[in-house]
Amino acid sequence: MKCPCGSGKDYDSCCGPYILGKENPPTPEALMRSRYTAFTQRNLEYIEATMRGEALERFDRKGGEGIQWIKLDVLLSEENGDQGMVQFIATFRFQGKKQMMHETSFFKKINGKWYYVKGIVS
Ligand SMILES: [Zn+2]
Repeated sequence: MKCPCGSGKDYDSCCGPYILGKENPPTPEALMRSRYTAFTQRNLEYIEATMRGEALERFDRKGGEGIQWIKLDVLLSEENGDQGMVQFIATFRFQGKKQMMHETSFFKKINGKWYYVKGIVS
């Protein structure tokens, strides 16, 4: 099975090992992709476990209900020490309508693991 994150790789050699907890995503982009893939699976445990700070405080477990994720396009990803940033467009269908979400996501490395800490939708 091709990975839902759109990397072109197989799920088992892309986001799969991260979502199963076998490996930690080595970069902010890898974490971001695996979180997108977890959204397509409605795997709220993984989504919640990979957040800290503001993102976690604002997380609404019911927020993604009824959304059908179509694709992910990563526009830019940066890593600088224990800080990371990824810009992406996620395409989804909600109530029969195709929509796009453009987000800049911020990541922080805590005890060697990347976490999603903030997202700005524009
Ligand atoms: Zn993937």
